[in-house]
Amino acid sequence: MTDERRARILVVEDDAALREVLAGALDSAGYETSIAAHGITASQMLRDPEAIDIVLLDIGLPFVDGWQILEHMDNQQRPAVIVISARGEETDKVRALDLGADDYLAKPFGADELLARVRAVLRRVRPPDGAGGIVVRGSVRVDLGARSVTRGGVEVRLSPTEWLLLAELARNAGATLDHRTLLQRVWGPQYADERNYLRTFAQRLRVKLEDDPAHPDIVVTVGRQGYRFGPPR
Ligand code: CA
Repeated sequence: MTDERRARILVVEDDAALREVLAGALDSAGYETSIAAHGITASQMLRDPEAIDIVLLDIGLPFVDGWQILEHMDNQQRPAVIVISARGEETDKVRALDLGADDYLAKPFGADELLARVRAVLRRVRPPDGAGGIVVRGSVRVDLGARSVTRGGVEVRLSPTEWLLLAELARNAGATLDHRTLLQRVWGPQYADERNYLRTFAQRLRVKLEDDPAHPDIVVTVGRQGYRFGPPR
């Protein structure tokens, strides 16, 4: 993806009025916006993951709900996902992040809030190039330049945000990064206190990378301070 191309955003929302408001706000902000009124259309449009950069995914949808769509997308090559939900419960937020969503917005929210989240997710999905290098820990090999990670020679599929967290840790292998620093660098300045995000994504990385996720030696918890890639240097 290049920064020149307009970001493509799919709005999945069954409430016609809200759908038009969201699509209109995104259109006005210069994004290439498409819409789906229910889960079946959305699933069809998501079959080509290269065609969309961000999905705004409503949870309460007829026929196929947002949870099912998220579950189906998990572990595949997929666009970034911002879940939008009317329920706004902490358990929903955790569930969304557990299923690989990149962010969560509780309804009602304003256009400014939406656009700020979209910009934050795009910054994550389209970080500046430059930082290369390969970091190896046991059977895990993180190629920062190629943006790929293998375990035992087999490619590990990561969501955009999982990758950014791993890359941030690997780039600073052996050094402890505190919670706020990680949240600000990976998610964005307004996320400094969202420890749930960090905890959830660290656990997801462990499940994918560690021999024993309960006793990690790649994504290591450092007391109450933060996280570290591998042993201290
Ligand atoms: Ca709905």
